[in-house]
Amino acid sequence: MNAPNKSGWKPEMTADGETIGGPPTHTGNRALMLDEALIFEIGDRNTTGVDLPQPDLAAPNRLGGLERKADIGLPGLSEPETVRHYTRLSRQNYAIDLGLFPLGSCTMKHNPRLNEKVARLPGFADLHPMAPTSTTQGALGVIYELAEWLKTLTGMPAVAMSPKAGAHGELCGILAIRAALEARGDARKVVLCPESAHGTNPATAAFAGYEVEDIPATPEGRVDLAALEARLGPDIAAVMITNPNTCGLFERDFRKIADAVHAAGALVYCDGANFNAIVGRVRPGDLGVDAMHINLHKTFSTPHGGGGPGSGPVVFSEALAPFAPLPFVEKTADGYELVEEETAGEHHARSFGRMTAFHGQMGMFTRALTYMLSHGADGLKQVSEDAVLNANYILRSLEDVLFAPYADSGPCMHEALFGDKGFAEGMSTLDLAKGLIDEGFHPMTMYFPLVVHGAMLVEPTETESKAALDQFIGAMRSVASRAIAGDESLKTAPHYAPMRRLDETLAARKPVLAWADPGIV
Ligand SMILES: *Cc1c(COP(=O)(O)O)cnc(C)c1O
Repeated sequence: MNAPNKSGWKPEMTADGETIGGPPTHTGNRALMLDEALIFEIGDRNTTGVDLPQPDLAAPNRLGGLERKADIGLPGLSEPETVRHYTRLSRQNYAIDLGLFPLGSCTMKHNPRLNEKVARLPGFADLHPMAPTSTTQGALGVIYELAEWLKTLTGMPAVAMSPKAGAHGELCGILAIRAALEARGDARKVVLCPESAHGTNPATAAFAGYEVEDIPATPEGRVDLAALEARLGPDIAAVMITNPNTCGLFERDFRKIADAVHAAGALVYCDGANFNAIVGRVRPGDLGVDAMHINLHKTFSTPHGGGGPGSGPVVFSEALAPFAPLPFVEKTADGYELVEEETAGEHHARSFGRMTAFHGQMGMFTRALTYMLSHGADGLKQVSEDAVLNANYILRSLEDVLFAPYADSGPCMHEALFGDKGFAEGMSTLDLAKGLIDEGFHPMTMYFPLVVHGAMLVEPTETESKAALDQFIGAMRSVASRAIAGDESLKTAPHYAPMRRLDETLAARKPVLAWADPGIV
């Protein structure tokens, strides 16, 4: 039994009975890192980090019989024990401030400290969403300015700022499309998505009540225009296309696709999560897009991951603008105004409703606008150029050791895609990813997009230097050659992480999300 004592010390850690470079019984500690158990396991009910005054037992009880009778079982630790607990846990984590985060499609870039400083200004951070607008003109001004930047960068006439993440933005866009089709008495049934689409695209369409059908891809990894045209008809409500796509390629035929879709009476949704690759260079409005979400938390920095905050504003074409959700900020002669149901009037009578209770993610708005203003328009263009350059450097530096299925389709955009072809029998992308952890890096996106066997999607972003990229490339070359050679030690990697390889199927199928007191169950 691995019963931890109060310090978190555990005798013999590994489930497979293997000891790693230590005496037969080891502590679970490594170098300057102490192993750490759950706070419920190390805390005890008789310790507390605060000194409360002794209760006056003679005073009358004012709770009228409602006082708690049983122990609620919260762990007690002293202040230093509490601080150490969380600090130790934080050291077992990987973070963008520690190293390169190669997750493809996620655009994990450095978050400038300036953004944090601005987001913490009390005039933004301490606002209440129901404060009278006469007292929140600055905050409304930030939302308005950011909206203007987004409209300019995308070449689209309207934007909904309230969606809280990319997937939420997709839902917003598809609901606007549905409202527009219903308004013309033409409810259609089917939404088309490419096979390589992010899972949120078909999920969004299905959630909004549509049937989803695949659009085939060409051998070079782009949408098959002829096949798409052949499928278009009076039952198609919309197509949802990611551009640049999830194979890391720009959809060169996008304008033709949009024209064909419009000619068939349908609308074009663009998944704009990969906007980082084209911001300042391509305006989606010029490509015929009707609705597109922008992941502020990807393209315009702002921290994300682990379910953290996001923001997914949606830009709209003229055709969809009247159906956009409320509320939104308008600039009038008297200042900024929040347009809500009560104030929307005739002009916005066709809005499909609301996505959220309030205006949107203020903390993300302040960070994204700070990022835009500190880069300026030219700087944002440079961002996309450097991101694309970095991704191509990785593609060309690894294509001799890793199978790059679309290496002949021209330069990649912001991310490089590899497959597991050429690995020794029994070696998988998962093994390579686990080996990368031992090399000090968070793994890349794995098994996505689905169109490539054992896919590895690497997105370096523009904020990595050549030295950082070379270090990552060195690690990738080393693990890739072990996968090709069939190095068995890769099958049990990671060997040096705080946790060894976990049973991922069990973790996904039977997650244990709450700690149960062994003394109680
Ligand atoms: C990240 C991403 C999404 C979803 O965005 P969230 O903010 O995570 O909801 C959708 N599509 C693509 C291509 C993405 O990379």
